[in-house]
Amino acid sequence: MILTVKKSKSASLILGAGISHPRIPAGYTIIDQFAKAHTDLLQKYGLEILESSSNANSRTFVDHFSALFKSTPEIQNAFLEWLSVGTTDLQINMSGVPSDIHASFVIAWLNGLFKHLVTTNWDFLLEFQLEKLYEPDHLPDGSFPHPYDDPVSYTFSNGKQCWIHPASLYSLNAVDQDDFLWEARWTIMTSESDLENLYHWTKPIWKIHGSPFFLACPQCGGFSRWKHVNKLKIGDPCPDHPEQHLVPEINIWDKRLDKPSRPVWKRLKERLKRSDLVVVCGLSGTGSDSYIREAVEDHSNAWVVDPKIGVWNSQKITYIPYGAKELSDALIGILPSGNA
Ligand SMILES: [Zn+2]
Repeated sequence: MILTVKKSKSASLILGAGISHPRIPAGYTIIDQFAKAHTDLLQKYGLEILESSSNANSRTFVDHFSALFKSTPEIQNAFLEWLSVGTTDLQINMSGVPSDIHASFVIAWLNGLFKHLVTTNWDFLLEFQLEKLYEPDHLPDGSFPHPYDDPVSYTFSNGKQCWIHPASLYSLNAVDQDDFLWEARWTIMTSESDLENLYHWTKPIWKIHGSPFFLACPQCGGFSRWKHVNKLKIGDPCPDHPEQHLVPEINIWDKRLDKPSRPVWKRLKERLKRSDLVVVCGLSGTGSDSYIREAVEDHSNAWVVDPKIGVWNSQKITYIPYGAKELSDALIGILPSGNA
């Protein structure tokens, strides 16, 4: 399998909730846990918690919750607060935690083993590892020199040190006629307005389900990202469109792929079609994620790495009965360890 990745010219890597570490609950369970901790707040808006936890019931509940969430800043803020403040596995994942698995996926992508990186996850584990590479202590002399002069290193917990060419991290872009600026290549593609920032030099993470931690103006799209989210909060007026209020940039489940993300998915789907290999890890492909599974199953060279085959059609994909850890270990094994 890993040789297939090495040989491919334009592989895509699609990651789902199964790669979160420590494991976080799936979508419905998150809402369920939030609801149980906020019964009074939900009751205030007329939403009763259902006793039965049957699939159909939780679906109805999540539907009602989604509608309420979209229209109620108080619920949005309470949800964000609950996701980010605390010490549960879920909250740790949202604020980021060092992880070899996520580092290996990010570095494999930066080193060109994968051309496209896709995640359905709300957490920031990939971004956390990516941002680490921009921190000065990953540069050889501990300073922050001219980006192109020094390759960036990363050491995995097994002691393997690998190198990332700075050209994968930075790009020298013209700001005006005679001014140039080093800019980070990576960016996030979630909403339609993000597509405007897709240049030939950008390396996008296709975060197709968004994150409650992203804020967006209905008029100009998402701009307040992750760590910078504290500067602006849900319900604040947009700095450019004071008549608009910021809302979480999030695509809630169940076939109701939000309208703004349809163009993003369309664009990504074209790229998946052109890929010579699609590797999926930790994505069950059930329920609201069926549309991704169907696109992957339509691809002529798709590999699914997961301990359980679940609903994947084994006739259409190559099934690898391993977990994210094994895929990560295999990738670490082929990452360049010499000075790039
Ligand atoms: Zn705006």
